[in-house]
Amino acid sequence: MEKAYINLIYLVSSILFIIGLKLLSHPKTAVRGNFTGALGMFLAVVGVFFEYGTITQNDIIIIGAGLLVGTAIGTFIALKVEMTGMPQLVALLNGLGGLASFLVGGNSLMEILQPGHDTKQLADLQFTISTAATGIIGAVTLTGSLIAFGKLQGLISEKAVRYFGDQIVKVLFLIGALYLGYLNVIEPTKIEWYWYIVLVASILGVLLVIPIGGADMPVVIALLNSYSGLAASATGFVLGNNVLIISGSLVGASGILLTQIMCKAMNRSLPNVLFGGLGAATSSADTGDIYTGKTKATSAEEVAMLLDMAQRVVIVPGYGMAVAQAQHAVRELYNQLTDKGIEVEFAIHPVAGRMPGHMNVLLAEADIPYDKMKEMDEINPTFNTVDVVIINGANDVVNPLAKTDPGSPIAGMPILDVDKAKTIIVIKRSLSPGFAGVPNPLFIQENCLMYFQDGKKATQEIVTALKDT
Ligand code: NDP
Repeated sequence: MEKAYINLIYLVSSILFIIGLKLLSHPKTAVRGNFTGALGMFLAVVGVFFEYGTITQNDIIIIGAGLLVGTAIGTFIALKVEMTGMPQLVALLNGLGGLASFLVGGNSLMEILQPGHDTKQLADLQFTISTAATGIIGAVTLTGSLIAFGKLQGLISEKAVRYFGDQIVKVLFLIGALYLGYLNVIEPTKIEWYWYIVLVASILGVLLVIPIGGADMPVVIALLNSYSGLAASATGFVLGNNVLIISGSLVGASGILLTQIMCKAMNRSLPNVLFGGLGAATSSADTGDIYTGKTKATSAEEVAMLLDMAQRVVIVPGYGMAVAQAQHAVRELYNQLTDKGIEVEFAIHPVAGRMPGHMNVLLAEADIPYDKMKEMDEINPTFNTVDVVIINGANDVVNPLAKTDPGSPIAGMPILDVDKAKTIIVIKRSLSPGFAGVPNPLFIQENCLMYFQDGKKATQEIVTALKDT
């Protein structure tokens, strides 16, 4: 097929990627966005087949086997993964993107070293620089994502790991990786430089993510997502494949935008998250003494009575709602309250849950109307007119320590101002802390009632009790 037609296929596929991204930006159109992106990817794969012209039987067997194994693993994981495991899965997929990129980079280098290839001509500056970049960014993405996966999965402590001189060690590894990249550029025939780059950058990836903890993880996840795109883009330069350059850039750019949104949500600058190590600080408040004898427990019947008298109710979903899979029960509660003429809204904190947009996805799954999901900036000024706030499995995003304890890992993070409501109901199973690992003084506030129960069960009990009021 003529090059012009192949480029046309790539152009259409790139346009589909852009439209897909646009559609993904709203829960209502997100599924269509996914299909549009998938169609773009299908076209890109078709384009690659035509671009490389003669395909041997051996190639077909290898590609077919790859497709079969990949599809089987992907389908199995997609069917098996719990909604609460999605953030970890996303972290892992980012990492695999990095792995694929640096393997392709290494393979391309090995290929031009094969006898019969004009190595000098093939290893021009674009090729060598982009190979080095693929090795560095791909390896940092892989190991950084594995550490993020471990933190989210609870395999390693989510707390920030800091040690004396850690910033200097990171800078030394970065310089080391860049120097090896330089050696790769001037001496591309020495393949070992490339694998040294991968080794040093892999250690750098671990060092970059291990000191980030507490509530700063959303920023890291978004950043690693962006890195995986940049690695793919660099691989596009290695292979001279335009559609890979474009799609990688799209992922890189959207990841950076998401990083910025997350930084804003945490009220942090990116350098502050990466090098500030605020997540390492420990809170001055101690879990033991702050709660003893000061919390007030409540029951479904009492909550139902309070709701029955309310005119305006706000529900704050958090990670616990995802764990409990309480979204459908919450929808039932929403129906019941609105049937009684009570105004019900949902307050969505940008970092609630364990991945960007986590709460929106869950609530959309339960058919909660989109116009009832209010973002933090919109709902915060209105909490003083709220009769009852129901906090379902949220903790860090409503923790006033963010405002009052500068030593806390969540210091400076804007929170939902639920304390301004007349009555606060907190549904959670115990007094254990949220992701950031700090106690929450909201629970001992005068107008706060604790409903110690699983998020789904508690909501169902309230629904039943409301029927009897
Ligand atoms: P938190 O992690 O702060 O708190 C969740 C609470 O849910 C816990 O206190 C837990 O208490 C409760 N819980 C757990 N299981 C259940 C259940 N079955 N029923 C009822 N409650 C339950 O959640 P938030 O959403 O408030 O905050 C998110 C945190 O995660 C922030 O610190 C954020 O920075 C971080 N994070 C966010 C990411 C994102 O992209 N959104 C990514 C990575 C981290 P108990 O055990 O007592 O029930």
